[in-house]
Amino acid sequence: MNLDEVNEVIYTRRRTIAVLVGPGGWVVVRAPLRTSRARIQVFLRSKAEWIAAARQKMAAVPVPGEAVKFVEGEKIPYLGMPHPLRFATRVRGGLVFEPKEGFILQADRQDEANKLLKKFYQAETRRLVSEWVDHYQRPGMVPTAIRVTSARTRWGSCSGKNGLSFSYRLAMVPVEVIGYVVAHEMAHIRQHNHSKAFWSVVEELRPGYRKERAWLKAHGAELPLL
Ligand SMILES: [Zn+2]
Repeated sequence: MNLDEVNEVIYTRRRTIAVLVGPGGWVVVRAPLRTSRARIQVFLRSKAEWIAAARQKMAAVPVPGEAVKFVEGEKIPYLGMPHPLRFATRVRGGLVFEPKEGFILQADRQDEANKLLKKFYQAETRRLVSEWVDHYQRPGMVPTAIRVTSARTRWGSCSGKNGLSFSYRLAMVPVEVIGYVVAHEMAHIRQHNHSKAFWSVVEELRPGYRKERAWLKAHGAELPLL
């Protein structure tokens, strides 16, 4: 590891040099005031192996709430997994997802990338949510409408008229977690509250929903913004 590759060097009133690798593989060095570059360089060399391993591990972890940067190799979440972004000269519709390769963006449409990715997420959320709605649908539990919204803080909601809304960001989470969010909103068609009766309807539709709900709590805020 070279000093030039370090993302941030922070000089503080500490006594020793330390290195930290954060989400996205971001490398931060903390050093005592007036430490020479040469000394930091020696330190980095002694930690090279550890830094390389930590960077590899952390590269796939999205930086909390950070905007997606549309650069080669950027990791874009889709169905709970990070997928690399690549560029090509001609791409159908400007952006496609190839299961074995990841996201492929048309190089000269980079300035529209945010819009294209959002469109992709919206279409995927609509498709996946509709499948789960069909799966859970039963007499007395049929939504009057299904909408995909740009909500950032709510994954789903159920209106008084039983129209269901879902955030396009759902396409970023594992498909089982989408299953829980849909079961949750479907259960609101019977119970417009979060009472015990409500949670027993969720349980009936989606036994084992607790670990999916926990996944959302733990990782939901880490997902990037568009
Ligand atoms: Zn609810």
